[in-house]
Amino acid sequence: MDIFGMHEFDGHERVVFGYDEATGLRSIIAIHSTALGPAAGGCRMWPYASTSEAVTDVLRLSRGMSYKNAMAGLPFGGGKAVIIGDSRKSKSPELFHAFGRLVGSLAGRYVTAEDVGTTAADMEHVAQVTNFVGGLGRKPGEAGGDPAPKTALGVFLGLKAAAKFRFGRSDLEGLSVAVQGVGGVGYHLCRLLASEGARLRVADVQPAALQRVRDEFGAVVVPATSVLCEQVDVLAPCALGGIFNAHTIPAIRARVIAGAANNQLAEEKDGAALQLAGVLYAPDYVINAGGIISVAREYAGGATESQVTSEIHAIPGRLMEIFERARREARATNVVADQMARERIGRGARRLVA
Ligand code: NAD
Repeated sequence: MDIFGMHEFDGHERVVFGYDEATGLRSIIAIHSTALGPAAGGCRMWPYASTSEAVTDVLRLSRGMSYKNAMAGLPFGGGKAVIIGDSRKSKSPELFHAFGRLVGSLAGRYVTAEDVGTTAADMEHVAQVTNFVGGLGRKPGEAGGDPAPKTALGVFLGLKAAAKFRFGRSDLEGLSVAVQGVGGVGYHLCRLLASEGARLRVADVQPAALQRVRDEFGAVVVPATSVLCEQVDVLAPCALGGIFNAHTIPAIRARVIAGAANNQLAEEKDGAALQLAGVLYAPDYVINAGGIISVAREYAGGATESQVTSEIHAIPGRLMEIFERARREARATNVVADQMARERIGRGARRLVA
């Protein structure tokens, strides 16, 4: 495959393929940019059907981390790792030791953490062989721990900013919000929304998760198959990626999309389709940065919970800037966010050269 010629390659600084015969580790680490600091992004374990599928995914995710970290104002660049394998069958401490040695060989240019298919326990094994790993759990008196409530706080504040921009209102009393996925992030988002009087409609594929938000917050359960078409003010996707596409966008009745899920747009052009449909889209990697802010500060050490919370409170201001600029320039919000991220990374790169 012509990696340099791939659309997803997009100027990656380094792509490293790691193989360990003893454990069968097959891993790829992609470093998109270190202009703003060491490339930070999690390690995904997934049974990719082919090496080219894994390469495409790691490159796309790694660039996404550059943009996310830049827009969150973190002193980190973007990178990502994948391990090709089934996380339910092929894990062992030795596999993560071998992965840790691969991370260590990059001498701090890449910092890993858990992602889909890997856990904090797996990262503890990585930490036995390298220091370049985060998401390990909280030290007493310092920030860190489960990122989901932090992500939910950022989404909540971002959703309020979007509602203010679109509906001109500062309170949530009576605002209807459909939440797709009430797991780690969705549950906490529902809690915050309910505390300010929003009316919740929720969907999930796990009955226990639904029962909890119905009992605790009086949420109305709606079918998972039609939650994206609910007649509500705001749609908050907190489950899956790739959900906004040519098929789903015409059926959306909400006027605002503000949720935690990563890669919500199937393709970049779907942002323009949402704009044309009159839907205000809060770019996912900007609104869902609360978790990475917490993980990054935990990795760096020395930050308190209140410092992390105050950094998360900067998310709505960043979104407002994107919304204003998109309106002024008649462009889609995702396009504006990508450009702002590239500008921030470019400024970092120029500082390195200077
Ligand atoms: P989670 O696995 O805890 O929760 C996801 C929920 O979605 C689960 O309850 C699951 O049953 C439900 N779900 C799955 N398929 C569904 C469907 N078809 N319809 C409705 N519900 C469905 O995950 P999470 O940590 O809450 O993360 C949610 C999303 O936010 C993911 O896309 C994740 O990548 C993204 N995200 C999470 C964080 C974080 O801090 N956890 C940070 C940034 C982005």
